[in-house]
Amino acid sequence: MKAYRAAILSFDPDTGAPRYWSDGLLVTGPGQGGAAAPRVVLALGSFHELIRHYPGLSVESIPDRLIAPGFVDLHVHYPQTDVIGSPAEGLLPWLEHHTFPQEARFADPLHAAEVADFFLNELDRHGVTTALTFCTSHPQSVDALMSAAQPRGLRLIAGKCLQDRHCPDGVRDTTEQSLLDTEALILRWHGIGRLGYAITPRFAPTCSDAQLQGAGELAARHPGVWVQSHVAENLDELAWVRELYPQDRSYLEVYARFGLLRERSVYAHCLHLDQTDRELLRERGAAAAVCPTSNFFLGSGCFDFASAERTGFLHGLASDVGGGTSFSPFRTMLAAYEAGRAGFTGGGPAKAGVSLAPSRLWWLHTAGAARALGLDGVVGNLAPGCEADFVLLDPRATPLLARRTAQARDLEELLFALIVLGDERVVTRTVRAGSVID
Ligand SMILES: [Zn+2]
Repeated sequence: MKAYRAAILSFDPDTGAPRYWSDGLLVTGPGQGGAAAPRVVLALGSFHELIRHYPGLSVESIPDRLIAPGFVDLHVHYPQTDVIGSPAEGLLPWLEHHTFPQEARFADPLHAAEVADFFLNELDRHGVTTALTFCTSHPQSVDALMSAAQPRGLRLIAGKCLQDRHCPDGVRDTTEQSLLDTEALILRWHGIGRLGYAITPRFAPTCSDAQLQGAGELAARHPGVWVQSHVAENLDELAWVRELYPQDRSYLEVYARFGLLRERSVYAHCLHLDQTDRELLRERGAAAAVCPTSNFFLGSGCFDFASAERTGFLHGLASDVGGGTSFSPFRTMLAAYEAGRAGFTGGGPAKAGVSLAPSRLWWLHTAGAARALGLDGVVGNLAPGCEADFVLLDPRATPLLARRTAQARDLEELLFALIVLGDERVVTRTVRAGSVID
């Protein structure tokens, strides 16, 4: 057993309400499944109440730290690590001029391995312990990432990008081979340790009907595997999809028609949806990955949090590096707050501006994101039984943060100061299911 005494933030597993102990105790230990299984949370609560049940327990005391669940990044592209900060006139020119040329380099397994290692180090530094990431269309880009993630004990879900049209030589795959490669990668990596596989059509415009059809068949054959793609990010993209798929009522319904809208499917952006689309997401148990730094950077629009909450479909936060501008969950939570406040979606009707509570923003990047992945009670929270992925945060990491958090009168004020002023300097340690990364 390993135990920590610090301030602790967790969430009610049912309601998502924050649970907080200023002097708390977190007890972790082996889970079911033997020594190779991830460590789990055995207990948490008030130090003075809980310690009585563990006589003789050795405790690491870190009174100036806040322990919080490890962050869950619902949508990121590891091959775009070197694309961060590339300006463009919107999504489609950005793909053409910056993204596709970088992704072509992943035909080289040595390059893929080098970027994979750097990317995983970035996740550590920023306190991200679970990520759902795109690879490129090259199967070796998946092998490179999975091979690097496995020994680190990271709960990582990834997949080979499917794109057999409307993209250049060097990143375009072929229909039949891409589906054979996907199934081979599922069999090689899905469920190995903490790794999972995601069937990954890039987006409807770069996939032929036959490729989407094949992806849907794979999704039906492997129900435990995830599906990830993009939908309704940008108005030019929407117009293009209408031209390519005139028979479908909406962009989202293209994916539904091919069997790609189901539980464990995660769609990045979801900015320009109508109410029928939102209800379809809810009915199918599919999730939206909200990527606010990317949406601001590319000028795509603002996610409608109020409509999402009212409709009740799954959603959580994501960095979307490299359209996104930072790996930092703090930057993403701040941008999500700003996107919530905005009274426009970026093309559609005006939306209601809402002030998301700091604890709600935090939940959307931890337990809420885990719920969107179908990993409720597994990661993203510190409730007993959850895998012991967590971060140690220093609320005094910078002079301004120290000054501001010293004046926080309650948990919400403390969390908001961290969201607005925090970055990777706040994350002093990342612990993944018991393996510590200093
Ligand atoms: Zn993306």
